[in-house]
Amino acid sequence: MRKNRLSASAYVSGVLAGDRVVLSRAITLIESTLQKDRLLAEQVMQEILPHSGRSLRVGITGVPGVGKSTFIERFGMQLIEQGYKVAVLAVDPSSQQTGGSILGDKTRMERLSQDKRAYIRPSPSGSTLGGVSARTREAMLLCEAAGFDVILIETVGVGQSEIAVKGMVDFFLLLMLAGAGDELQGIKKGIIEICDALIINKADGENAALAKRARRTYANALHLFPPKENGWIPEVSTCSGLSGDGLEAIWEMVLRFERHTRANGTFERQRALQRKTWMREHISYLLLQAFYDNPLIRGQLADVESDVAAGTVSAIATARALVERFREAKNEPEKP
Ligand code: GDP
Repeated sequence: MRKNRLSASAYVSGVLAGDRVVLSRAITLIESTLQKDRLLAEQVMQEILPHSGRSLRVGITGVPGVGKSTFIERFGMQLIEQGYKVAVLAVDPSSQQTGGSILGDKTRMERLSQDKRAYIRPSPSGSTLGGVSARTREAMLLCEAAGFDVILIETVGVGQSEIAVKGMVDFFLLLMLAGAGDELQGIKKGIIEICDALIINKADGENAALAKRARRTYANALHLFPPKENGWIPEVSTCSGLSGDGLEAIWEMVLRFERHTRANGTFERQRALQRKTWMREHISYLLLQAFYDNPLIRGQLADVESDVAAGTVSAIATARALVERFREAKNEPEKP
C-alpha cells in the first residue's frame, strides 16, 4: 500500500532532524519515476542541498565473493565505535534482472543494519545505470543532510557501475583476492585510474602469506604508474574483513588521502567536477526520458521497431528520423 506523500517541508525538516523513517520515505520519493513525485523530490533536494556535502564518501567495489558485505559490516562498526554515523548505499543496475538488490538481504550486514548509528539502503531498482546512479547520488545527499558523516557506496565489480560510483565518491577502494590470477595479468590501467587503494582482502589464516606477497607485487607495479593529477599514488594494503585486521589502517589511509587532497585543493575540485558531470548526466537522462515517454514517439517506435529488427530498414536512419520527429513535436504548439 502506498503511503501518502508528505509536504516538501515535512520531508526537509524530518531529514534534517535525522528522522530515519522520514529519510527512508524521502529516498523512496526520489526513487519514484512518477512525474508529480519527481517535482516534489526536486524541491526537497533543492532545500536539503545546503545541508549536504559534509561527509566523506567512500566507494567500495570488488567481484562477488571478494567479501564486500563482510568488510562493510566490520568497517562500518569500527567507524561507529569511533563516533561516526555511517550510511551504506548500493549501486546495482542488475538488481532487476537478478530479482533482488545486492543489499536487499539485510542479514548480510546484521549488526550494522540493527545499529541506530548506521543506515543501510538497498539499491534502487531500475533498468538503466544512469537512472540508478542519479538516485544513489540524491540518496547520498539526503543521508548527509540527515547527519551521516561517512557514506559507503557499494558496487558490484562490473565495469560500468564502478565508473558511475567513481563519479560520486571522494575515495575509491578496490577489494581483491590474492591468487585470483590478477597479479599475473598485471594491473589494468583503467583500474588504477579509478581506484585510490587496492586492498587484498581475506588476508587471514593460510591466506595471510599469499596476501602479503600479492601486496608487494601490486605495490611494485603501482610505482610504475605516474602519480595522478591529485598527487596521490594508490596505496596497497591487506586486510581481513572477517577478523578486522588491517581495517583501522585503511581508515587512516582514507583520512590521510583527505588531508592530502584538501591541502592541494583537489578534494573540492573533484567534487566540483562531479557536480558538473552530474548535471550533464541528468540532462541526458531527462532528455531520454522525455523522448521515450512521448506518446507520438512511443507509437512510431512500436511501428518501426520490428522492421529495424528484421533488418529491412536502417537502424541509423530510423533513429535519426525519430529524433527529428521528436524535435518537431517539441516545437509544435501544445494541443489544448
Ligand atoms: P561479497 O559478495 O563481496 O559481499 O562477499 P561476502 O562478504 O558475502 O563474503 C563471501 C564469502 O567470503 C563469505 O562466505 C564470507 O564468510 C567469506 N569472507 C568474507 N570476508 C572474509 C575474510 O576476511 N576472510 C575469510 N577467510 N573469509 C571471508
